[in-house]
Parts: sequence; structure tokens; C-alpha cells
Amino acid sequence: MTRSRRLALLADEISRCRACPRLVAHREAVGEVKRRAYAAETYWARPVPGFGDPDARLVVVGLAPGAHGANRTGRAFTGDRSGDFLYAALHRAGLASQAQSSSRVDGLTLSGVFITLPCRCVPPDNRPLAEELARCRPWFVREVEQLGATGAILALGAIAYDAVLSLADPAKHPTFAHGVESAVALPWARGRAVPVVASYHVSQQNTQTGRLTAAMFDQVLSRAADLAGLAGPQRGRHASRGRVEEAAVKNRRSK
Ligand code: SF4
Repeated sequence: MTRSRRLALLADEISRCRACPRLVAHREAVGEVKRRAYAAETYWARPVPGFGDPDARLVVVGLAPGAHGANRTGRAFTGDRSGDFLYAALHRAGLASQAQSSSRVDGLTLSGVFITLPCRCVPPDNRPLAEELARCRPWFVREVEQLGATGAILALGAIAYDAVLSLADPAKHPTFAHGVESAVALPWARGRAVPVVASYHVSQQNTQTGRLTAAMFDQVLSRAADLAGLAGPQRGRHASRGRVEEAAVKNRRSK
């Protein structure tokens, strides 16, 4: 069975999980009440599996689905401002086929990158309880394990950073901070230390206050991509198209 097929089967399993009563109630309530702008849509309102290139060298770890983003569309970081920020950066880096991410069928593809979450259901106030993170952890571990020989991991926020470091035996790691680097010896990577780069989360709370700017994020993304070995043809697969599109946008604006 191919890795792509194994990931698809896992995604199907994840999407049917109902192990956390509080989060099941919340995700479904959000999907019932809806935001006015999306009143005509049917919300996904289920757990959100990972998304990206099954042969990824770089794994990006977020936190949990956004209430009216991934919990609405069913794809990680899709349909909200956090996703706008993240996918625009991936596109600038030549790792995403387009800067926009609006639905599961918008044609977006990632090159060398897979995005996953340590908590699959939208939590109230974006804060999963410790026991909910623990319950969801096997999904996270299984998904990262399926990706095999990961080159590097980019952790978005302190919860993602802790979730990544706990994939291996606890050791001394630097405290979470933007740009901090560490490594984990993943059991399925034959003990090889996989580099981990930490970033502030791409939430609106950070990006709209200037705590995390596009330039800051481009820098950590570039560093993580370098550590993942994504320099060269794989990283450039979408890059020239991205530059052409950006140039076209600039031209339109200057007219
Ligand atoms: S948070 Fe994870 S463990 Fe809990 S219901 Fe959702 S998918 Fe299942």
C-alpha cells in the first residue's frame, strides 16, 4: 500500500473520532450556529486530518482547527486568516501551488510539506485541555510516523513545540521562543536527530499585532526548509509560478 493511501485511510479514521465529549459538542455547535458570512455552507464540524505532500521533507505542526476555518472547510488552515498568512508564506517559498486556501477543492497542492495538528477538533477559546491533547496524541504520532524520514519540523506555537518534542524521549530542550531550534530522535527515523524549528503561531492574535510579521515567518520557514533539505528542485517546483503570479499582481496594481 502506498504512503498516500495509508495517510488517506488514517485521515478517514481521524475524521470519525468522537473521543472528547467537550470538543465533539463544541465543533458541532459551531457548525450549527455558523458565522453569518458562511450561513449557506455546511460546516465540516468533524476532526481535521493533516494535509500536504505524502513525501514531505518538512512537517509543519499547528495547534487545532479554526472555528470558521478548518472546522468549516475540513482542511487544516483553510478558510481563515491564519491560513491566508501560512499559505501565502509557503507560496512565496515555492512550497505551495497558490497563496490562497479557501476550500478542500480549491486546487492547492504542497510540495515537500505536510501540515498536521496535535489537536484535531476546534477547542473553545483555542485552548484544548491537557487530557484532550493526550487523547488526540495518537493521531498526531501516527500521522507523523506515516511520513517516515522527515527532514525537519516547524512547530507553530508552544503547544506544537511541546507536542513535537514529546515524540521522542524527553531530554533537555530550549524553552519555546520564536526561532529557537532543537532536535528530536524520532523512533521511526532510526534514531536520527530531526531538527525542530519553533515559530510563533500564525494566529491573527500574533499576525495582526505585529508579534509575528511576514518577514519573521519567511525567515523561520526558510531555515526549516533548508534543514529539511528542501533547497533545489523540490523547493523550486512552485517558485517560478509564484514569482510570475506576484509580478502579475504588482503589474495590475501599478496600472
Ligand atoms: S480532539 Fe482528537 S481525540 Fe478528541 S475527539 Fe477530536 S480527534 Fe478525537
